Amino acid sequence: MKIVTDYHMHTLLCGHAVGQPKEYAEHALKLGLEEIGFSDHAPLVSHEDPKITMNLKQLPQYYKMIEEVQAKFKGQLSIKMALEADFIPGFEKETKKILADYPYDYVIGSIHFIKNWGFDDPDTRDTWDQIDVNRVYHDYYELLRQSAQCGLFDIMGHVDLVKKFGHRPTEDMTDEITQTAKVFKESGVAVEINTAGLRKTCKEMYPALACLKIYRKAGVPLTFGSDAHDPKHVGADFNKAYELAKEAGYKEYLMFKKRKIERVIKL
Ligand code: ZN
Ligand code: FE
Ligand code: FE
Ligand code: ZN
Repeated sequence: MKIVTDYHMHTLLCGHAVGQPKEYAEHALKLGLEEIGFSDHAPLVSHEDPKITMNLKQLPQYYKMIEEVQAKFKGQLSIKMALEADFIPGFEKETKKILADYPYDYVIGSIHFIKNWGFDDPDTRDTWDQIDVNRVYHDYYELLRQSAQCGLFDIMGHVDLVKKFGHRPTEDMTDEITQTAKVFKESGVAVEINTAGLRKTCKEMYPALACLKIYRKAGVPLTFGSDAHDPKHVGADFNKAYELAKEAGYKEYLMFKKRKIERVIKL
């Protein structure tokens, strides 16, 4: 394996993942990864939904679970403690409070909601049939920029998730992405290559090559994540992710520790 870190994976606490953390770690070891990071969905600040995220009372359980697996694999596999937190405008204070509760190694900021609509949720997929797809894309990029600017996150998650179910805009989004890349650079956040898109209807990495090139040109740094919700998906398609990064012109990627860049790894 040419890539040695997988920074995006989940646990049972989110209500839509399977397997114990130890099984995720075992799969990572089998693939030859040197480091993984658990980035389970942070408790939602806008409402509770046990099928989407853990709740606030479950956070200590999350820490305990990950600390146990860290101890178990010590000397074999480095395991980072992280979260994937939703950006919900108007709830920045609440989000900040959650993130201050533990010395996380990094936080992935993700957009899964546009005006209370979980646009990537299979249960509310019908909404796509009643909505202007171009509008959704514009709104999505606007939220991405706001999420980077709010200063709460280190890595922006799956930065073209709107394509998940295959809905494509008829308008060219290059300007939106270019603006977004500029804001990411100014805000000091990284982007991830997230291989989960290959396992969805869109059948493409998040983000696609053309999009990733724009982030690379703007000087936005990179991480890699499988977004595994099942141990067997840890490191999934990482050889393709490596090729994509190289094709986009990336020369390196990042490791994080305690919310700071720990190491820059050559590609
Ligand atoms: Zn999830
Ligand atoms: Fe996500
Ligand atoms: Fe995720
Ligand atoms: Zn995700």
